[in-house]
Amino acid sequence: MLTFNVMRNLIFLTTLLVLGLIGHAQQQTYKRIKFLNTTENISLLKAAAVASEEIFASDDSLQLETNVTTANQLRLSGLNFRILIDDLADYYENRNANSTFNRPRNPAATSGLTPVPNGFQLGGMGGYCTYNQMLMHLDTMRARFPQLITAREPISSITTHNGNLIYYAKISDNPEINEDEPMVLFTGLTHAREPIGLQQMLFFMYHLLESYNSDPYIKALIDTTQIVFIPCMNPDGYLYNQQTNPGGGGMWRKNRLDLGNGNYGVDLNRNFGYMWGYDDEGSSPDPYSETYRGASAFSEPETQALQEFVNQRDFKICINYHSHGNLLIYPFGYKTLETNDSVTFHDFAYRISAFNGYSTGTPGELLYNTNGDINDWMYGESSEHPAIISLLPEVGNSYSDGFWPPTERIIPLCQENVPGNLRVLELAGWYAEAKDDCPMYLSRQEGYLNYLFVRQGLENNGTYTVGFSEAGGSVMEFGTPKTYINPVQYDTIRDSIWYRIVPNPEFPNQPVKLVLTVDDGYISRTDTIQKIIGAPLTAILNDDCSNMNNWTSPNWNTTTFYAHSPATSITDSPVGNYPSNTNRSIDLTNELIVDPNTNPFAMLSFWTRSYIQRGRDYVVVAASVDNGTTWQPLKGKHTHPGGMYQSIDTPVYDDFQDEWVQEEISLADFAQASRLLLRFTLRSDALINRDGFWFDDLKVFTRDNWAGTSEPDNQNKGGIIALWPNPATSIVNITTQVPEQVTGMLLVQNTLGQTILQKKMAKNGKTSLNLHTLPSGIYLVKLTDDSGLTISTKKLVIE
Ligand SMILES: [Zn+2]
Repeated sequence: MLTFNVMRNLIFLTTLLVLGLIGHAQQQTYKRIKFLNTTENISLLKAAAVASEEIFASDDSLQLETNVTTANQLRLSGLNFRILIDDLADYYENRNANSTFNRPRNPAATSGLTPVPNGFQLGGMGGYCTYNQMLMHLDTMRARFPQLITAREPISSITTHNGNLIYYAKISDNPEINEDEPMVLFTGLTHAREPIGLQQMLFFMYHLLESYNSDPYIKALIDTTQIVFIPCMNPDGYLYNQQTNPGGGGMWRKNRLDLGNGNYGVDLNRNFGYMWGYDDEGSSPDPYSETYRGASAFSEPETQALQEFVNQRDFKICINYHSHGNLLIYPFGYKTLETNDSVTFHDFAYRISAFNGYSTGTPGELLYNTNGDINDWMYGESSEHPAIISLLPEVGNSYSDGFWPPTERIIPLCQENVPGNLRVLELAGWYAEAKDDCPMYLSRQEGYLNYLFVRQGLENNGTYTVGFSEAGGSVMEFGTPKTYINPVQYDTIRDSIWYRIVPNPEFPNQPVKLVLTVDDGYISRTDTIQKIIGAPLTAILNDDCSNMNNWTSPNWNTTTFYAHSPATSITDSPVGNYPSNTNRSIDLTNELIVDPNTNPFAMLSFWTRSYIQRGRDYVVVAASVDNGTTWQPLKGKHTHPGGMYQSIDTPVYDDFQDEWVQEEISLADFAQASRLLLRFTLRSDALINRDGFWFDDLKVFTRDNWAGTSEPDNQNKGGIIALWPNPATSIVNITTQVPEQVTGMLLVQNTLGQTILQKKMAKNGKTSLNLHTLPSGIYLVKLTDDSGLTISTKKLVIE
């Protein structure tokens, strides 16, 4: 405590000196304002080139944190608003100065969250590290883990306007050496008042370093990746905030270029040289603006230094930490345009934000466009370096976190970004997934287990092994795992592996737990799936959801707006959106009853669609065997593990699922029970409400003995993946995907069904057909297997 007071006094003295030196320059106050009309104001803010990070929009309110000059300009342009907070720096500083938060010493307090690393400490500015504390942490990491992290070094010899260098450190298995491993870049504090980007980076770095020896997954990531960290891109701006507000809360955003007349600073995230100054949307030519983009592209030493650093290296992914808004933003920003890698951006953003539920999209999709930002240059400027997949998280919510989140929020905000950061490292490498694609019931003694395999990671050269095993049982045996060499990113490979049930089972009254494993040579990823040995018996519950006869709920009810089978389905909010902070259930009124000895519970099936705020609100389906005293959440084909702000790792539904899909959930865990209740629960948080969740045609099956046949199941034989060009003139290229034992034949048939051209499918799945002899018209291209059965058909137009 004594040390702390001494330090505070020192900082106070320094601040007085520095403020004295600044002389007549008047420090702007920043205000939080609330607009009274949302829709027309967004376009006016856009026209005023207000920084989108300063805006927080919800369904029914629009607020802005801005300096008093901008506020006055907005007032003059006719906008009507109310001042909520007069001096934000003061507000943030006081909030954290009064915090009584103590750092949790027990890291495992909440399961599912990353433990607080030993080396991680809250800093001296309301919990945030000062600039020197940040440098000391980098030095401490180097001292503790010299084999895993480099000493900090400047990214360039270019110094900032105030003579500072920008530092980086690299984590890898041989950090001093430039190895042939994918390289990833994390940056923070480009905007000087967004210190959570720095805090979460230190947290993540300590987590990597301290877990290396105990966690094989972390070890594999560090061994196969080169991870570069630049915790503070804008030392001048951050040091300035430190001087004006030593307790944290400083609202300076830009760098500290002296523009004369007491005016300072360029917005570094508008100064990058791709489509710089494209227009004045979200970026301003006015030196007094918070989004002033500078005199020219790369006019500033900070962006020049980063440009030099990046162009000398081969980064695959770059993550640029900002705050706030709970967003994950990707290119293009200057204009609403699809990129050549739209699928990658959309998919990566979705995966990286799965745990923290950030909203994903381009700036234009999320609010409005902006030019000269780092994402556009990293990705768009491919003449200086290969296109880099660049994304920008805006950490923290806009209502209570803001630019300087409360001290007690620092660790949760660090924790909510660890899973996404780890996923970034995986996606820079060989990340791939296999999905179960076979029915719930294994009703034959022998057959094929179908699956879909997709490689998502950026590394093009990889060898993958996909196989099945059984978790803790010996009921089944499996064919050898399949190997895929250099699969194309996002190509779906449909394949299958042979199985047999041994020894001739007496229909065990328990689910078979299959483990589907994808091994990329460095990391094994597994998915555990339940299968039921036997066949479905007539449903003991068969509800077409045309009424509430089977159900009890104060708020769920039937609706005619959407239905899988006419005319109704059941939904959580029959009129409009679900409300904020709701916790609403629908329960089966009467327990389902079976004789567990002859026909145990086997499967719940229903059709569903949903529109739920991802990562925040969610629906859980649960079962109870004690008449509603305790409930067990159920995992289905369309659930995924809940995130940080849901129920961590509980299987949830929380997405926009426009089409009806059929859900299948094994109830085999309840095989020994004679009674079963079911419940759907929807929970929401305070912000953003959607239309909700629907189910229809709900059935519960019990289990019968299997059909007794040993004839193999339908094997997944794949088919024609792509066919181009279409319409075609002289040649058509066909990509096929079949299991290795199948020799495919490609047939071109006319509309009468006559085969007029045929060719053996090329072994590598890429066959070209010469069409010169064929008249123009409509044809069918068929892929058949060895016995002449059609696997797949596609229409072809010849011009
Ligand atoms: Zn920012």
